[in-house]
Formats: sequence, C-alpha cells, structure tokens
Amino acid sequence: MRHIDLIVIHCSATRCDQNFSVTALIRWHEEKFGFTGYHYYITRDGKIYQTRHENLVGAHAKGYNRHSLGICYEGGLDEQGKSADTRTPMQKQALLTLLRRLKKEHPDAEILGHRDLPNVHKDCPCFDARSEYQCLKLFND
Ligand SMILES: [Zn+2]
Repeated sequence: MRHIDLIVIHCSATRCDQNFSVTALIRWHEEKFGFTGYHYYITRDGKIYQTRHENLVGAHAKGYNRHSLGICYEGGLDEQGKSADTRTPMQKQALLTLLRRLKKEHPDAEILGHRDLPNVHKDCPCFDARSEYQCLKLFND
C-alpha cells in the first residue's frame, strides 16, 4: 500500500457552462500522460468517478505524486473563462463525502488545493480548499 499524506484538490479548468465529461477527461490525460492523472473526478451533477486506483501514483502535482491522491472537479472557469469557484451544490456535497471517506482511510493526509503547494503559479482549484476542509480534521482527532 502507498502511504498517502496529501490529498490535492484540482479543477479541470473548463468553463462552468461547458460539458467536460469523465470520458473527455480520460481522453485528455491519456494523450498527455498515457494514463489518467487524477484518482477521482467529480462532474457538475455531483457524480464521483474513480479514474485511477489509489495504489497507483498519479500525475497531478509535480514533486508530490508519489505520496498523494488527486481529486479534480469539473469546472473552475466562469462563462468568460476567468478563474472562479464554479462548484455546484452537488459537487460540494460529493467532495465532502469523498474527502470524509478518504480522511478515514488516510488519517494523516493533509487536504489542500493545488495552488497551496510551493511553486505552483495557477489558481487551481479556484477556492481555498485548505481552510474549507480544515474541519475534516475533527473527525479523526
Ligand atoms: Zn491542479
């Protein structure tokens, strides 16, 4: 088993008024990496797709892939293509459900957004994941 001490949240950096299905995500990543880099993908309807086995190293956070899991939500850009927290209520609920489960399985994993990692110069995931999911610590402490 891989030891997971980091859970990194991402957005697909696609517009909130455009459909970016799990199939499209898989196709994009397979062209780019030869496999799907995220472990989970959450579409706007709140569906959670496991896109990579947790035991396999992903490709989503340079320098941190070996000991982390990557979760991506569909969206992250507004209608004008600008960075925005476009999560639907269903996506927020799904993220919370998934993170609660993952925290139980990997109790010492820290949850943060891609942009919270050092030397990341993008807005991904376009919201403050670290403070939003701070509360999940309480489940294990
Ligand atoms: Zn990212």
